[in-house]
Amino acid sequence: MNKDVKILLSTDEMPRQWYNIAADMPHLPKPPLHPATKQPVGPEDLSAIFPMGLIEQEVSTERWIDIPDEVLQIYALWRPSPLCRAKRLEDALKTPAKIYYKYEGVSPAGSHKPNTAVPQAYYNKKAGIKRIATETGAGQWGSSMALAGTMFGIDVTVYMVRVSYNQKPYRRIAMETWGAKVHPSPSDQTNAGRNALSLDPQSPGSLGLAISEAVEDAATHKDTNYALGSVLNHVVLHQTVIGLEAKRQFEIVGDYPDIVIGCCGGGSNFGGISFPFLLDKFNGKDLRAIAVEPASCPTLTKGEFRYDFGDTAGLTPLIMMYTLGHDFMPPGIHAGGLRYHGDSSLVSQLCHDGIIEARAYKQLACFEAAVLFAKTEGIIPAPETSHAIRAAIDEALLCKQEGKTRTILFNLSGHGYLDLAAYDDYLNGKLVDYEYPEGLIKEALSKLPVIP
Ligand SMILES: *Cc1c(COP(=O)(O)O)cnc(C)c1O
Repeated sequence: MNKDVKILLSTDEMPRQWYNIAADMPHLPKPPLHPATKQPVGPEDLSAIFPMGLIEQEVSTERWIDIPDEVLQIYALWRPSPLCRAKRLEDALKTPAKIYYKYEGVSPAGSHKPNTAVPQAYYNKKAGIKRIATETGAGQWGSSMALAGTMFGIDVTVYMVRVSYNQKPYRRIAMETWGAKVHPSPSDQTNAGRNALSLDPQSPGSLGLAISEAVEDAATHKDTNYALGSVLNHVVLHQTVIGLEAKRQFEIVGDYPDIVIGCCGGGSNFGGISFPFLLDKFNGKDLRAIAVEPASCPTLTKGEFRYDFGDTAGLTPLIMMYTLGHDFMPPGIHAGGLRYHGDSSLVSQLCHDGIIEARAYKQLACFEAAVLFAKTEGIIPAPETSHAIRAAIDEALLCKQEGKTRTILFNLSGHGYLDLAAYDDYLNGKLVDYEYPEGLIKEALSKLPVIP
């Protein structure tokens, strides 16, 4: 029997600290700016909607940040997650490459997102906050926040994009089971929602509008804060538990990746798996990290590196990042979690400095890779994750062509069992590839704020 199929750590081998890449990267990202004054935002600006514990992490340049015991207790319900060798996939590809994946689908919400939802709920609870307001598209983030809320006895209100609320009931039901209150957005709970409804009572909603509703809810209630599932520095910090575990697991089998791959929407699971390995790269190790995005929303590969808003309405601070323009509306591909106009500031800066690579794939090639993975390794991956699998397979095929044995690691960011309708469409030939929406991106970029 091959012992390396599944490499497990015991509960007490869980990392006790998160890794903060801000301590080691050659150039720090430029600071976020206030949307009105265009001056750097201070902790006071952020304290209306975030607890100080998270604000401190957002601006910290300390290399290691302790994971509180209360957070470790909840992580222990599913962490450490397994590192698996995809031997059956390697055999199907007839590649000399070794392919490993870190499986984050073992969390109760089925993805990596609870790794940050749990500490976010913890720091809010500690600050005396009674309720968290947040947004969700298809429900991956909302369900992670609902799970974390119930663990710490904090109420969660989720503004869920109306079209998903109607069409994708299962994650809503999960959120309600964990005790969250879910409103279809636009809702009648906020001014932003009521305005949108008065313009169009049938409005399908959008993620940008749902963010506006959640931020307004948090800003207008003293006992309520806001939470974001990706992009921000503290979110990526929390996700480094993934890569830190993976490094220990590689030590057990005496291997080390040449290539680390993650799909990239806002950058949190990519940063989470790759940043702890980049620490070794900064110390001279030869290693490639590849962020993979959809060709229809190609932020890192086709966007501009400049200041832009995090949301559609322009309420959030201006963030220095690769962006396609905050009112760019990407085509309706099935990997909803990757349809974001911007990206993490940290990931963007590393890409700009040539420390990481980015590439983009169309969705049919990704689903083809996901189905091959499902048929060989068993797990049906989330449509977002299929982008990382495509890249891992392509790198493995390149190894075969070149006759090279390389070790490839990718993050299996979530399972696809609540996204089976996407597979139904793929299997029945109903999915199409979208061309790169050059005109739309050009138009959205032309409207960006100019920072002197
Ligand atoms: C949300 C999500 C993503 C994209 O978000 P990142 O912040 O880029 O990681 C990727 N995979 C899954 C399964 C998700 O739920």
